[in-house]
Amino acid sequence: MKTKIAVIGCTHAGTAAITNMARLYPEAEITVFERNDNISFLSCGIALHVGGVVKNAQELFYASPQQLAELGVTTLMRHDVLNVDAAAKTIEARNLTTGEQTTHSYDKLVVTTGSWPIIPGMDGINLENVVLCKNYNHAQTIIEKAKTANRITVIGAGYIGVELVEAFEMLGKEVTLIDNMDRVLYKYLDKEITDVTEQALVERGVQLALGQMVTSFVGDEHGKVTTVLTTAGQYETDLVVLCVGFRPNTELLKGQIDMLPNGAILVDDYMRTSNPDIFAAGDSCAVHYNPTGDHAYIPLATNAVRMGTLVARNLMEPTIKYLGTQGTSGIKIYDYNIAATGMTETAALEAGMNVKKVTIVDNYRLEFMPTYEAVTLKVVYEAETGRIIGAQLFSKVDMTQSINTLSVCIQKGMTMDELSFVDFFFQPHYNKPWNLLNQAGLQAV
Ligand SMILES: Cc1cc2nc3c(=O)[nH]c(=O)nc-3n(C[C@H](O)[C@H](O)[C@H](O)COP(=O)(O)OP(=O)(O)OC[C@H]3O[C@@H](n4cnc5c(N)ncnc54)[C@H](O)[C@@H]3O)c2cc1C
Repeated sequence: MKTKIAVIGCTHAGTAAITNMARLYPEAEITVFERNDNISFLSCGIALHVGGVVKNAQELFYASPQQLAELGVTTLMRHDVLNVDAAAKTIEARNLTTGEQTTHSYDKLVVTTGSWPIIPGMDGINLENVVLCKNYNHAQTIIEKAKTANRITVIGAGYIGVELVEAFEMLGKEVTLIDNMDRVLYKYLDKEITDVTEQALVERGVQLALGQMVTSFVGDEHGKVTTVLTTAGQYETDLVVLCVGFRPNTELLKGQIDMLPNGAILVDDYMRTSNPDIFAAGDSCAVHYNPTGDHAYIPLATNAVRMGTLVARNLMEPTIKYLGTQGTSGIKIYDYNIAATGMTETAALEAGMNVKKVTIVDNYRLEFMPTYEAVTLKVVYEAETGRIIGAQLFSKVDMTQSINTLSVCIQKGMTMDELSFVDFFFQPHYNKPWNLLNQAGLQAV
């Protein structure tokens, strides 16, 4: 008998799971339920699309229901899954086009329902021109509304907020960035690096309104937002984009499988949930965070595609183990290339860890070369053991791959002693005889 596989959600985790399962299990009957009218949208391109760098929105998709059909997969678009009965192994879905409601049975269920932006409950949140930034439809709304908005307020100074601020500023808008923390990119970078990032934003005329909480929005007689009120002031605005974080989209499975308190599904090394026939991947899940060894909620496309692929590999029997994550990420703001992996010093101290750090500022290659640029590298490590737990890098020249190298070091539990003497190449075009990473290790020991 054919194995019936049901998949809920078809963005990065879903698409990775589905395309791999179709190849690995050609005999299986795979049915995908997606409430949206598109699949595989690359949200990471929203700011580039808003800023006009990516002109054609179709380039932000890499799969279609037709392509999945060619692999033998049935994709039910605009089908919202309303209920999962894990005991009966059935799901109930509504066709959002016809309103028809149907029940489907499964042998294996793959939950790739992802995440949804956190929407704080406050006065005025439903006013027109207070918008979210997650999917293709949001991107189109932002672009359309930004055409007539001169003053734009972005709430949330994480990666998404900061990227949008840059895009709006480059379009010539008056931009305000509000965050309750006193620095931008607080979760990802320490102050040495966020200071320079903030300076770059301020030099371009971005108004930073940090260390204050938004309390409400005020609208005009047409119900359109005009003012953002915060604990420290008020900001006139034509458009507000909310980017204050994400929560896992897992209500369907609540009480049926184990989750973190925030609703992130707990999976084992093989992407199995606490129910042996239900697998999960991507933003709907917690990840294993190697720097602490604990579960964490780090919604990233990188985790989603890896976990989705592992679902496919492990669906019939446990085969390939998940390696966990360091939450490695990167961002380009104006001329600056920035990347980070693992814990910041701030995060480690907040977690009560005893850590030390090394910060190196050096030119990336020898000064006899016609040009060279400064690079800032910070590495954070455990004081007692020297185990590397995090790193951040900032430079005008693109050195971000060094952070991927340090991600491997963290994953492998390496110490600063070991980092000092790792074999890296030297060539005057690219670096110095002592690679920056070796230098960090040497300085620590
Ligand atoms: C603006 C922005 C920029 C980003 N930039 C980066 C970046 O540069 N690098 C990076 O690594 N990550 C980035 N991310 C994060 C990345 O987009 C997410 O981690 C990724 O989309 C997660 O994929 P997913 O498939 O797990 O979930 P999602 O993308 O959330 O997809 C879940 C899917 O499930 C569907 N669904 C949910 N519930 C149901 C239901 N009940 N019935 C039917 N369908 C359902 C949804 O419609 C959706 O299509 C960015 C995110 C945003 C918003």
